[in-house]
Amino acid sequence: MKPSTLRIGRRYRPNRLADHYDVIVIGSGMGGLTHAALLSELGQRVCVLEQHYTAGGYTHSYERNGYEWDVGVHYIGDVGAPTRTRKMFDFLSEGKLQWAPMDEEYDRFFIGDKVFNARAGKQEFRDNLVGQFPEEAQAIDEYLQLLRQVGDGLAAFSTGRMLAPWQRTLAGPLLKWKTPSLMFRNTHEVLSELTSNPDLIATLCGQWGDMGLPPKQSAFMVHAMIARHYLYGGFYPVGGSWRIAESIIPKIQASGGEVFTYARVEEIVVEHGRVTGVQMADDHLIACDRVTSSAGVANTFGHLLSDEVTRSYGYDKKLDSVEPSFGHLGVYIGLKGTAEELGLPKTNFWIYPSNDYDADVERFVANGDAEFPVVYISFPSAKDPDYENRHPGTATIEIVAPAPYEWFESWADKTWGKRGEDYERFKAELGERLMGHLYHRLPQLEGKVDYYEVSTPVSTNWFSGYQRGELYGLAHTSERLQQDWLRPQTPIKGLWLTGQDILTCGVTGAMMAGLMTTTAMMGVRRMTPVMKKIFG
Ligand SMILES: Cc1cc2nc3c(=O)[nH]c(=O)nc-3n(C[C@H](O)[C@H](O)[C@H](O)COP(=O)(O)OP(=O)(O)OC[C@H]3O[C@@H](n4cnc5c(N)ncnc54)[C@H](O)[C@@H]3O)c2cc1C
Repeated sequence: MKPSTLRIGRRYRPNRLADHYDVIVIGSGMGGLTHAALLSELGQRVCVLEQHYTAGGYTHSYERNGYEWDVGVHYIGDVGAPTRTRKMFDFLSEGKLQWAPMDEEYDRFFIGDKVFNARAGKQEFRDNLVGQFPEEAQAIDEYLQLLRQVGDGLAAFSTGRMLAPWQRTLAGPLLKWKTPSLMFRNTHEVLSELTSNPDLIATLCGQWGDMGLPPKQSAFMVHAMIARHYLYGGFYPVGGSWRIAESIIPKIQASGGEVFTYARVEEIVVEHGRVTGVQMADDHLIACDRVTSSAGVANTFGHLLSDEVTRSYGYDKKLDSVEPSFGHLGVYIGLKGTAEELGLPKTNFWIYPSNDYDADVERFVANGDAEFPVVYISFPSAKDPDYENRHPGTATIEIVAPAPYEWFESWADKTWGKRGEDYERFKAELGERLMGHLYHRLPQLEGKVDYYEVSTPVSTNWFSGYQRGELYGLAHTSERLQQDWLRPQTPIKGLWLTGQDILTCGVTGAMMAGLMTTTAMMGVRRMTPVMKKIFG
């Protein structure tokens, strides 16, 4: 078997560090890499420190037994035309990242015994939905109007997060006026005012797994953001999700920066209210003026800062006001035969036991033997036109389903791969249940599966550093979105935040958080030429 080319970034060794870095970024996910690349564009020398063996955070891929899987990128929206999202990706990757469109019907929702589809294109989405719910044309049109309203409000929301305290005092009332209050209401409440058809509500919320909260718990802002994001269809990075980080790293290196792997930060060192550097797991101290943490706020304030610092800035109480998102199971499947031979679609499957998503989640959390409230199936090798070149004659499938961290907590301290027979048995049971869903939908795959393995929330903790195996960092409740402290700048001098926790989850959410943090840190005046270069 060929050696893996998927491990990207440079292995950390103290003697490989430069004498001085302007900024240290903790975590090489999309938020950290975007921020580092933009800083590098401004001539800053940046050191990105990643605890995992490869760079990319949730955008990394891995290989086993001749197969390759992505872990946190199944589809990206808004990249089929020169949108702001596409322009950002083009800029960061110097145009090297290419995107393959999925099928017109990019999401398929199996809701009880009914099937609905999301179709690419705003008009096509609308007409298709009206075709499925002919009496609901008015509600569907009103829904699309609401998405537009939230789109306008999102700009005000993110601008507010970038401003310094004195600017917020001045601009606060205007930004509040531009941020419609419906953004912070729960999704189900907002949709129930448009329609009483539970199947339509369920279809509109069929992507709830993309942010990890069912409609009665999630903020409409995030629902709308995701719906808008995929309105023109889903796209997959050609060559696999690991190509995202691989194509951005040269931009970070251009100003003398580097992305180090196996580089676990143990502590952010703060002296007299100012960050002075980071202490590594090998005890090495790297001094710097500024540190940006892209490792999630639970890690940053719960582990990377001393208790004394966390308490003195009130972050212990602030952390109590937010919750981690759900944990998940992943099934990574390898098959003999190409995606075409096996009849695999470029469509995501979302399988729901009923149209009452919240009740299904509640039942499952109370009793793990209840049906999975959602089973998501993705066909990465079908979506990637280059997969066949890298792994001829084979195909891959991934299944994702929710699973509370608590079920696995007792194995959290054990080493990956050595958690014992009881853990393996439990995983195998869950894996079989999920494979049953796959065979039910695609019976032609019986006997074609060559290999599969199951990951749990403790695997997520091991590889990605999320303490509770969180799928998407903080849970996307309305309360979380109204936390003013979830912003790039902290009151600790020299400490900045970026990544999915300060805006929203998603590769694009984390990328835009990277842009926000860089703008807040470097100032609009310095960023303007860069913005012009990116967005024209
Ligand atoms: C199963 C799954 C499917 C998903 N599917 C999609 C999808 O289809 N489309 C989409 O847009 N989004 C998807 N997402 C969400 C998306 O991947 C994330 O929201 C986004 O990538 C988060 O980026 P980030 O930079 O904020 O964090 P991360 O990518 O999580 O990066 C944080 C990094 O910090 C590192 N770190 C933590 N602690 C330390 C430390 N002490 N020292 C050094 N490094 C540290 C971690 O190892 C990690 O690499 C999915 C996520 C999951 C889990």
